[in-house]
Amino acid sequence: MPALTVVEHCDACGLDLKAADSGDGPAVFIILILGFIIVGMALVIEVRYQPAMWIHAMIWPPLIIGGALGMLRPFKATMIALQYKHRRDDYTPR
Ligand SMILES: [Zn+2]
Repeated sequence: MPALTVVEHCDACGLDLKAADSGDGPAVFIILILGFIIVGMALVIEVRYQPAMWIHAMIWPPLIIGGALGMLRPFKATMIALQYKHRRDDYTPR
């Protein structure tokens, strides 16, 4: 499982990332986006094929867990990059 800890300094440019804190932002976006996708897919599968409940129970949990864990790291990196772009004062010593 990929680590979610932010490094202290950027390897390339030495930017101080100790102040980087994305909080709950990435999780909220993943809940909304992944929930929309998975629920939509589950509805389509149910309406079209009406599979047994155990098939739903086999399909969706791995997709939810895998999708959430797979999206967490890039979303966190994106939010930190956006914070750096729009709130750069937080990253420079005053
Ligand atoms: Zn850098």
